Amino acid sequence: AVHLWITVLVIAATVVLAWLLIAALRQRLRLAQLKNDLVATVSHELKTPLASIRLLVDTLLAEGGSPTDANAREYLELISQENARLTRLIDNFLTFSRMERGSQRFASAPVEVQEVVRQAASVFREHVGDDGGALRVDPGPPAQVLGDADALVSAVVNLLENAWKYSGEAKRIELSAGVVDGRVAIVVRDNGIGLSTQSAARVFDRFYQVDQRVARDRGGCGLGLSIVRTIVEAHGGEATVESRPGEGSAFTLWLPELEPRRAAASERPAGE
Ligand code: ADP
Repeated sequence: AVHLWITVLVIAATVVLAWLLIAALRQRLRLAQLKNDLVATVSHELKTPLASIRLLVDTLLAEGGSPTDANAREYLELISQENARLTRLIDNFLTFSRMERGSQRFASAPVEVQEVVRQAASVFREHVGDDGGALRVDPGPPAQVLGDADALVSAVVNLLENAWKYSGEAKRIELSAGVVDGRVAIVVRDNGIGLSTQSAARVFDRFYQVDQRVARDRGGCGLGLSIVRTIVEAHGGEATVESRPGEGSAFTLWLPELEPRRAAASERPAGE
């Protein structure tokens, strides 16, 4: 009987060891794949704006115009836009890589939700130059969450930029905030191309794009929503999406509210 037990133990130990080994190998493979995906995406994404900049500069040089000419000014503005786009892309890649390595640190301070909404709207307007007033903003009632204001603003900006990118000509984007059952909801709603149920289930996965050609044309790299999800989860919340193809999408960031401010609470009789 002792022999039998020893044999069983040895087999069990071998199985556990083999399982651990396979798990470690899988992790390595996953990381290697991630690295490959990242290198491919980064190189591809950087090439397009860099090529535009080179073309514009070459044209400027060939025409020999001075920067005060209307034509030359237009080119310089385009160069500056492409440059800003490159900078945002690289910022996204850096944030993503810090998050993957687990070295991204988030501040933990009371944050005013209305401020996050206002700042995100203003950063977004600056990025896309929304003169047509496509964006409507409702900062909702005063509410606070605990966390990193900059990170939350960048998560909302990411949603707004997607709403802009994946909508047609007559864009209508609504950014609003509210409190539902002790949770803060920050919602970005658009009247854009929408998502099928299958795609909606995957949009927060890293590198997932419904249509790579469409997304890349619009300056996407498939990382934005995975960054949004990481930020929200680091705040103890979650990101969700509701969408219909051809009608539009609503992305919501759910965050635990800090000290629910029930105005009436102090007036209620004790024990209620
Ligand atoms: P990308 O850089 O490609 O935009 P994201 O991670 O931000 O990457 O989004 C992933 C994919 O989800 C996009 O490529 C697009 O197909 C889809 N998507 C994101 N936001 C929207 C939206 N508001 N409406 C429709 N599709 C969207």
